[in-house]
Amino acid sequence: MNLADRFPKELEGLLRRIGEIGERAGFTVYAVGGFVRDLILGVPNFDLDVVVEGDGRLFARRLAEEMGGEVVSYDRFGTATVRLEGERIERLDVVTARKERYPHPGALPEVEPGTMRDDLFRRDFTINAMAVKLNPSGYGELLDPFDGLGDLKRGLIRVMHDKSFIDDPTRIFRAARFEQRYDFRIEPHTESLIRQAVEINAPLTVSRQRIWHEIYLILSEPIPEKPILRLQELDVLRFFRSDLSREGLGLFPRIRELHGEIKGLVEDEIDLPIAYLAALIGGYTPRAVREFCREFGLSKEIEDKLIDSVMLARFEGSLDRPSAIYRSFERKSIESLIFFVALKGDEVKGAVIEYLTRLRHVKPLVKGDDLKRLGLKPGPIFGPLLKRLFDMQLDGQLRDKSELSDLLPKLLDELKP
Ligand code: ATP
Repeated sequence: MNLADRFPKELEGLLRRIGEIGERAGFTVYAVGGFVRDLILGVPNFDLDVVVEGDGRLFARRLAEEMGGEVVSYDRFGTATVRLEGERIERLDVVTARKERYPHPGALPEVEPGTMRDDLFRRDFTINAMAVKLNPSGYGELLDPFDGLGDLKRGLIRVMHDKSFIDDPTRIFRAARFEQRYDFRIEPHTESLIRQAVEINAPLTVSRQRIWHEIYLILSEPIPEKPILRLQELDVLRFFRSDLSREGLGLFPRIRELHGEIKGLVEDEIDLPIAYLAALIGGYTPRAVREFCREFGLSKEIEDKLIDSVMLARFEGSLDRPSAIYRSFERKSIESLIFFVALKGDEVKGAVIEYLTRLRHVKPLVKGDDLKRLGLKPGPIFGPLLKRLFDMQLDGQLRDKSELSDLLPKLLDELKP
């Protein structure tokens, strides 16, 4: 089977050049994995992984030289990442075809150079274990020693061998993710292997960081509640957490809709998976959130977003004035606000949108210098006074600095300790 005519037009030139550079260096080079799977399914995928039968590092250097790019990193498995300039694909992962051996379950594998067949055999599922040749002779030819094509047609997620989930239990999470993404089925024998691995608690051999990585990928799926429910059904979700909120999962569709609406209104980057996560752990205390973040090695940035979320979940205040809206949402992350609207319903939606699109951009009319100019000595009263003035401004009770001298005596009296 030849897939050359299915290559995305934007990548035609790049793929040909990769093949030619490989040819000149004396190596056979292939595109592999998800790129090939999605090519056959007709799903756009610009995430190109290249496998080189030969020396992947040398090839990566040649590629960078000839295409005016740069090799940006090597990892311990000999994977090189090449940054290309002016191409539709900016980063390209290049690996040397290799064999893997797992020294113990859940460990990272030991690797040695191997053939392309070895390289495909080390992969997670047959549908991800196909390659397309890029050298000029045989350009576009499908290499499919494990009948990935047949499984794609049948809609099956099938492992390469019976020890697969013991070697690497993260594949259990991946199986649910691909199954639900494509509306496939995990093939019955593969499912029984999952159940056996779960029975002996194989996922406990995986680090918490790697589990989180898989969960993050799941939460990045178009409809993440599907793989999550599937993991629950396979009794695997407990290896992430066993105290996730069912109701929170029910908020996912609403979170998705709100994300769609709000992203068109603001410039912020929105980390949608974190808004989903907020729903799953929205009932935690701030302290439990901190422990959660420590457990999975999450960044301070994510921790702050989650803390905002659990605080907002307990919010009971009023949102009847612009200043009340501003003070309730001040510095809260956009993810936590999306979660908040999903949780509390549409009556708070207007307030959140008002905050995001207008209130948070308002600049205070009055600054400390203005107060000094009116003869006030800087002191502890400045903070509360400026805050009060800003609230008045937001609520339309202060429109111009000239109103300040009339207002001050009354406000100072009000704020007197
Ligand atoms: P996605 O569409 O989610 O990006 P992908 O198949 O491209 O899916 P990657 O995580 O980018 O997924 O992995 C690229 C390829 O590497 C996979 O297609 C698969 O062949 C292989 N792979 C990834 N993770 C594993 C794993 N845990 N065990 C074995 N092979 C893996």
